[in-house]
Amino acid sequence: MYKTIICDLDGTIYLDKLPIGNVVLEVNRHLNKGINFHFLTNNTSRSHQHYIEKIKKLGIEVTSKQVHNPTIVASSYLLNKFGKGAKAFVLGTKDFKQDLVKYSQAQLNDDSPDYVIVAFDTDLQYERLRKACSFISNGIPFYQTHIDNYCPSHDGPMPDCGAICEMIYFTTDIRPIKNFGKPSQEMIKYFKKIIGNDTEIAFLGDRLNTDIVIGKSLGAHTVFVESGADKKEMIINCEVKPDSIFKSTEDFLKKF
Ligand SMILES: [Mg+2]
Repeated sequence: MYKTIICDLDGTIYLDKLPIGNVVLEVNRHLNKGINFHFLTNNTSRSHQHYIEKIKKLGIEVTSKQVHNPTIVASSYLLNKFGKGAKAFVLGTKDFKQDLVKYSQAQLNDDSPDYVIVAFDTDLQYERLRKACSFISNGIPFYQTHIDNYCPSHDGPMPDCGAICEMIYFTTDIRPIKNFGKPSQEMIKYFKKIIGNDTEIAFLGDRLNTDIVIGKSLGAHTVFVESGADKKEMIINCEVKPDSIFKSTEDFLKKF
């Protein structure tokens, strides 16, 4: 029925470190049938390698080509736009900085950057936030990795990249030029190359404004799962509505 299934991670496959229900069993059942799985997170707090290992630890065998996050997409764009050795001022974790340097060939610079990029900075420091605002208000190009305002966790929502960028906006009156996560044009372009001509695709996610929107742009059957961030009641106010609603990814995968 579907040749390719694209799944979000936080709130769709796991919450914090724990898989949601029997999702691992169901994913493996479909993997064994030859279904292509891709995992796409907007989370940029950890390295690309971290997500590969995290999925493997849950008990799902994946390769690096099946796991995706905005860092890879941002790096390719920034390398193209600013060239090798460009100076980047980063609000992000050590993992994010390492991946950005590795994939975009940028150098970290806290004094005279070519651009400012904000990721899901779980080590956020006021002094660096102040510096970012100063660069941005002086005209340095400002990017964000993704638009999520919060990340779901067992203890409740955590401030994410979008919320940090709102602080910058309230301070400078300037919004990011671009983002590279779901459902940005850059991420759509990147994923269209991966899926090619495949039209039998399902896209599963717990977020209406990111997962369901990009799923539609990719021509996928979109599935909203109620196991994460957004509530079913929010659908009525959304312009882009999911094609189906399930309690969890496990429930959807059990159906076919
Ligand atoms: Mg999610």
